[in-house]
Amino acid sequence: MDLKKFIIDVKDFPQAGVIFKDITPLLNDVDAFKYVIDEFTNFVKETGANVIVAPEARGFLFAPAIAYAAGCRFVLVRKPGKLPRAVNDVEYSLEYGTGHLQMHKGDLRENDKVVILDDVLATGGTMDGIIKLCHKESNVDIAGIACLIDLSFLHDDALAKEYNVKTLITY
Ligand code: IMP
Repeated sequence: MDLKKFIIDVKDFPQAGVIFKDITPLLNDVDAFKYVIDEFTNFVKETGANVIVAPEARGFLFAPAIAYAAGCRFVLVRKPGKLPRAVNDVEYSLEYGTGHLQMHKGDLRENDKVVILDDVLATGGTMDGIIKLCHKESNVDIAGIACLIDLSFLHDDALAKEYNVKTLITY
């Protein structure tokens, strides 16, 4: 399926100079959303993963449906101050500066096989941070990385060399 027609480029959002990929038209189309969920569900099943880890906000739009379809647990990654219990925390690189991502302690367990899922892979800073966060507490295997959109001109191929990466739309 040609998914690019469901992605709208929005100039100067959220700030001047940025071209933001708006994925909401894809959520607003029954067949396109189903296609994405089915593709990622098959990928998750192929990896043998038992947990999907996804960050707010747009990772949350896809991960629960895929976790349900693939029979996996779903673990949330959130910005600071959002999770109510004890957390593991990681600092990660933003385009300008750094930020923090958090996961509830105990959410990942020894020998879990994890697929990390997000909507957009841009510089890769967020994905690097989530990988580090997954390794904070338990000995887990990153079985795969799934991103709807790959902005391939913004990152090198280090991630793809080390991990099983599945993306559906490349720019
Ligand atoms: P990175 O850390 O530079 O790879 O940016 C990826 C993160 O920023 C993901 O969590 C995305 O949700 C978000 N992101 C970056 N660019 C876009 C965009 O154009 N549209 C939607 N989300 C974006």
